[in-house]
Amino acid sequence: LSFVCFTSSVALDRFLHGLLAAGFDEQSCLSRYQSVLYRKESPHVPSSYLVEKLRNYEALHKKCGPNTELYKKAVEQLKSDHGTQSTECNYVIWISYSGLGNKMLSIASAFLYALLTNRVLFIDRGFDMADLFCEPFPESSWLLPLDFPINEFDAFDMKTPKSYGNMLKDKVIGNGDDGTSTHSLPDYIYLHLSHDYGDYDKLFFCEDDQRFLRFVPWLLLRSNNYFVPSLFMIPTYEEELKHLFPEKDTVFHHLGRYLFHPTNSVWGLITRYHQSYLAKADERVGIQVRTFETDAGPFQYVLDQILACTQKAKLLPDASGQDTVVSTPKTKSKAVLMTSLNSGYSENIRNMYWEHPTVTGEIISVYQPSHEGYQQTEKQMHDMKALAEIYLLSLTDALVTSAWSTFGYVAQGLGGLRPWILFKPENHTAPDPPCRQAMSIEPCFHAPPFYDCKAKAGADTGALVPYVRHCEDMSWGLKVV
Ligand code: GDP
Repeated sequence: LSFVCFTSSVALDRFLHGLLAAGFDEQSCLSRYQSVLYRKESPHVPSSYLVEKLRNYEALHKKCGPNTELYKKAVEQLKSDHGTQSTECNYVIWISYSGLGNKMLSIASAFLYALLTNRVLFIDRGFDMADLFCEPFPESSWLLPLDFPINEFDAFDMKTPKSYGNMLKDKVIGNGDDGTSTHSLPDYIYLHLSHDYGDYDKLFFCEDDQRFLRFVPWLLLRSNNYFVPSLFMIPTYEEELKHLFPEKDTVFHHLGRYLFHPTNSVWGLITRYHQSYLAKADERVGIQVRTFETDAGPFQYVLDQILACTQKAKLLPDASGQDTVVSTPKTKSKAVLMTSLNSGYSENIRNMYWEHPTVTGEIISVYQPSHEGYQQTEKQMHDMKALAEIYLLSLTDALVTSAWSTFGYVAQGLGGLRPWILFKPENHTAPDPPCRQAMSIEPCFHAPPFYDCKAKAGADTGALVPYVRHCEDMSWGLKVV
């Protein structure tokens, strides 16, 4: 990739077909403007309806955002605890929670929910969010103001009395069949949409419940999941989603590129690494290794699986060439970007390609930016490196990811890549086949409801509509295809 050549070509579309709004200060968030220099143009163009919807959302966010009269009014109402009058501005607050991949998936889900329900999205900055991401909406902020009256977010969990599920269960609220309340409306409701949610919480995904929630001005939401596939199953939103995403499996691809612009510090980590190790290669392959064993590894069976997969998918050549195979300066070079908490896998593969020639003569260079050992959620540099690595993976030409990992889902979604997914090993054995290519570029919803709202009975939600299917890597998960 040659920067000189790239920047001198005039037709670079920095605003991604209108997905990104103009009018930001370029220096304050270089990644917003420079990412096109590092990416191939996406074959997926956002619909003009999505673009229009985003501009309208930005206007709403500006009107109702921090420090506005309307925001102050809505907060006053919340403080006064006088039930609710209708307000011009309604909000959904995303509570910071879980690993970075999970966070990015649930923010994108919450944002889509905000778009569908004309709500304004605020994010709880938690420990690290402001260091990781630029502001996505012009002339306003998506960070929940620090003086917001509710701030003990850690206290919200499945047991919280003001959760939607518990209020339904305890009959504090009730939604009539026409969606109207049979009790007075609460000023805010906590939505517990985390992996450990219960059957009452899951009613969130039913049409009648959505009609009820429409009248609640403040929704506080905690989730570590990509719950978009189940939004597709709610009849109220079906038409709108069809117009927003004529290509259904591009929800995270577009919303992720719209929302997640790394801050200048993280952008430095990304661009320095890319220019040092990846830019000059003819082709880039990303391999994301994530194991969910109790001990850290490295494990021989995981290494075997990676090699079996990259050969099956023809991503990397066999290292069993003859010593007479000579590489010339014209020989193709491939850069392999490996990410893992453990350095063992990349060291092994790098050595293999040093000690043995490839059958094709290709030159394979293997790089791994960090090996942090274990997940250290809530440590600033750790999270910045995690974001940088997710982003670098998204800049590759072909991607291998690990089953169950949201870290990989984000990379595939941002990159618009249909990855080869390494199946989850069972009993310390490499699975056969080692991997398969994903059906779509969408992430998987790990904890979907299995309920037919109309029939009021359990149902296989992966078999109801053709565009929501069970995931490749998790049989009970759901993904949009
Ligand atoms: P998931 O657990 O794989 O679904 O992904 P998450 O991103 O939600 O949580 C895993 C966390 O562990 C990440 O956010 C990082 O903090 C850390 N982590 C896991 N794999 C890597 C890696 O390859 N590189 C880095 N830098 N951090 C990682």
